[in-house]
Amino acid sequence: MFCAGVSPRPKDKPFAMQCRGVVYKVSCIDCNFRYYGQTDRALETRLNEHKRAVQVGDSNSKIAQHANRFVCSIDFNHATIETTRQETKTLTS
Ligand SMILES: [Zn+2]
Repeated sequence: MFCAGVSPRPKDKPFAMQCRGVVYKVSCIDCNFRYYGQTDRALETRLNEHKRAVQVGDSNSKIAQHANRFVCSIDFNHATIETTRQETKTLTS
């Protein structure tokens, strides 16, 4: 499934979670930490990996490192899609 033009509006979330080849943002509930990632698989699959990394304290995961070091909660339920890969080259900031 290709998700060109998908917006991060809440009503689109069920669809967005199945997007592939997207850049996504995960935020921390407790501080200003932001994580930007990219995946070729469904966003939902990648987020589940992040959740698991936090649970097991995976030292290779930046999100897990943050959550465990600062005792923060990561807001996986409100991950947003920043852009699709095909649109990345048009970003200026
Ligand atoms: Zn934090």
